[in-house]
Amino acid sequence: MSFSPVKGMHDIYGEDASEMEEVTNLLKEFAKMYAYKEFIPPIMEYTDVFSRGTGESSDIVRKEMYTFLDKGNRSVTLRPEFTAGLIRGVVSNKLYAEDLPLKYFYCGPAFRYERPQLGRYRQFNQFGVECVGADSPLLDAETIIMAVQSLCVLGFENVSVKINSLGDEESRKAYREALKKYFSSYMDEMCEDCHERINLNPLRILDCKVEHDQEIAKGAPKIKDYLSEASEKRFYKTISYLNDMEIDYEIDENLVRGLDYYSEIVFEIHVKSQAGNDYGAVCGGGHYGGLVKELGGPDLPGVGFAMGVERIVSLLKDNGLRKEQPYLLDFFFMPVGGDEEVINSVFYLMQTTRLLGYSADMAEGGKFSSMFKKAERKKAKFAFIVGTDELEKGVANIKNIETQEQITIDLNKLDEELDKLFEHDECECDDENCECHHGA
Ligand code: AMP
Repeated sequence: MSFSPVKGMHDIYGEDASEMEEVTNLLKEFAKMYAYKEFIPPIMEYTDVFSRGTGESSDIVRKEMYTFLDKGNRSVTLRPEFTAGLIRGVVSNKLYAEDLPLKYFYCGPAFRYERPQLGRYRQFNQFGVECVGADSPLLDAETIIMAVQSLCVLGFENVSVKINSLGDEESRKAYREALKKYFSSYMDEMCEDCHERINLNPLRILDCKVEHDQEIAKGAPKIKDYLSEASEKRFYKTISYLNDMEIDYEIDENLVRGLDYYSEIVFEIHVKSQAGNDYGAVCGGGHYGGLVKELGGPDLPGVGFAMGVERIVSLLKDNGLRKEQPYLLDFFFMPVGGDEEVINSVFYLMQTTRLLGYSADMAEGGKFSSMFKKAERKKAKFAFIVGTDELEKGVANIKNIETQEQITIDLNKLDEELDKLFEHDECECDDENCECHHGA
């Protein structure tokens, strides 16, 4: 019997959990500034949503999905990414009948049966956006700009963008033929998977991780030579918006991205780890032409990106950008003396304090020094100290754990007293008599 976590899946707790919450909250707030609203699709979809018949030749869909039969013998899959499920949701709920484009952000776990390694898990969290229903280089550019700015808002400075165009259907058809022709003469030397890829979708060979195959791929024809006039124009139009916004980017002719539904512009964003770690791309995205139609909706395009939240959290740590929380609790209540009546009164006081909007926890008695140590370990800002004497007088002693300053407050005016205590943080005065309790 094994009670360890499933391989490649991990528990998130402590500072990592707080950091993850902070990162996702910031990303969500930032997305709202771009007029995005939240969409929460189910974690599980019918497998067809991702595989769409034989419509997807990517490794993600063919090899890495957690797919199983439910008790009704239906094939279901834990989402390996959000886009297909979200678009299924747009179609199921006929959201395309609303004002277009639809702008949705999402956040949550995704699952891929990949070989676990640094920055690569079998359960990981993604934050991303989808803008559905308008075909415009301006929106493609806006999506890239938004992804870059989101990372900047999180504090990253060395954000590098790689972009490429996969062209429209006509361009890709011509390119697939050219790749097929090129790789056919190398097939004897190439891996088993590439033998399948050449028939399913030769573009996928460019993603192959086998070193020798990568060498061969270096000499393959480049998509830019197969772009239709319309796709080329569109690509350079998107780039012109990036130039206008002074977004640095590099055109990467080998960038094809992992899923088949992409068309026209695709991009990836990397952030350099100052600890020298290589997590791979932190964000990836692009434009997609046929997905809404493939999932039973009208012929509408979309554009979006997905970011790996774990990778962001690791990079923040590597780059010294994690914000140390000065404290995690406003008050730690310490009933002095250990008598049950005091403990009960302190419990009641703590509940009142929580209802007033402050975070609080308490010790159920014990030695003063050990309660104080506990307050420090819990990273409380203030110790709220109450014993029999204090209760009789209707007061409490409040000690600032960091500065060790102590004041006595009137429990009959708890709301007012606590307000003053927190105003004190903002007040810079040295006046001992100031309302803010400074110098107490
Ligand atoms: P993709 O859907 O493959 O374009 O991935 C988008 C982003 O999700 C990547 O840039 C990573 O940051 C993150 N990501 C993808 N796969 C994993 C994984 N197995 N573990 C952790 N993060 C991942």
